[in-house]
Amino acid sequence: MARSERRRIQQVTARLAEGDAGTGGADLLDALEAAADAAAGRAERQRDLAKRLAAALDVLAVGVVVCDEHGEEVYRNDPAVLGQAGARDALAEQAITGLLDAARRGERAERALELFSPVRRNLALSAYPIRAGSVPLGGVVVIEDVSERRRIDTVRRDFVANVSHELKTPVGALSLLAETLDGEEDTETISMLAGRVGAEVERLGRIINDLLDLSRIESEERPPSDLVAVHNVVAEAVEPLRAVAAAKGIQLEIDEVPTSLVVNGDAEDLVSAVSNLVDNAVKYSPTGSPVAVRVTADPSTVSIEVVDRGIGIPARDRERIFERFYRVDRARSRLTGGTGLGLSIVRHVAVNHGGEVTVSSEEGAGSTFVLRLPLAAADARDDAHDGQHEGVDARG
Ligand code: ADP
Repeated sequence: MARSERRRIQQVTARLAEGDAGTGGADLLDALEAAADAAAGRAERQRDLAKRLAAALDVLAVGVVVCDEHGEEVYRNDPAVLGQAGARDALAEQAITGLLDAARRGERAERALELFSPVRRNLALSAYPIRAGSVPLGGVVVIEDVSERRRIDTVRRDFVANVSHELKTPVGALSLLAETLDGEEDTETISMLAGRVGAEVERLGRIINDLLDLSRIESEERPPSDLVAVHNVVAEAVEPLRAVAAAKGIQLEIDEVPTSLVVNGDAEDLVSAVSNLVDNAVKYSPTGSPVAVRVTADPSTVSIEVVDRGIGIPARDRERIFERFYRVDRARSRLTGGTGLGLSIVRHVAVNHGGEVTVSSEEGAGSTFVLRLPLAAADARDDAHDGQHEGVDARG
């Protein structure tokens, strides 16, 4: 009861006690009715607040279970209902009960839990005592799904381990070469060793550049939506590789790409993607074998196909070649100067541009990689086409 209501009732009862019958009886009734109304109003507001709090707790991503000071469960939000339809997970229930008991006894406690049904999940449960001042009110258990955090931690750990391993190889080779060079007097040997130092340094540089590219591309939520002409992308990707291809006697057959084909995106990333595909086609083809770049389009999509008649990719590796550092043949990739990062760069660029990259291949017969990208909206394409010399990817 509020203080003002209590004071009013006290005043009326005091008057009645002093024998001031007068209107005292009616006043007392009024005062009691007012107090009852106020109490009902307060109870309703409390109920509303409780409903709102319960609804708010249901939308949280964490589970919340509350018990009273006797350990009796008094509240549980939706995310704290663990298990499959109807049947609560026994392991989780056991953990929650134990933690609530600890919390109501005034202890802080934590537990990690791995559930396998309906899907595999890692949960972190924390228990806290709850009090009003020094009066114990029970305990609360908070349940957090940490599966994604765990997965990211594992990916990060693997990545760091892979990078360290990749860098260790050329650094180890450099260290050996330096030792061998030390005290070497034969000029021919010195020149040969210096050449190998140069090659290892180049290799280190390539790994670092690819890592920087990958990290930049991965961190882009959306690439800049410049209008980029596909013919420029193909030309820029292929030109620097002509010399490497020619040195292997490989002829690059490049389709004439209509200038009207325009996509939204980042020109540099797109050139890097196509260049990685053509570079691979050349790297994994024998001397004299042809490599073709074909470009086709339907009203909404452009497909850039890179076709080789090289060594091909075994079926079991086809899904994995887009993973960072995955190589079918580690030794071969090393010999050809591969970093194992090229295709993960291609996949990221494709996904960032709302497209995809796919592969079909036959071992010993060759591979075809297809980079599919959504075309820019038709009106944007027309504008781009009209203004090609000023606007569209002026770098090409
Ligand atoms: P790398 O730098 O080793 O070439 P990528 O990520 O570009 O790395 O490619 C991953 C692996 O996929 C390569 O090591 C190679 O085994 C395989 N691969 C990629 N492109 C081709 C291709 N055109 N023909 C055959 N194998 C390929």
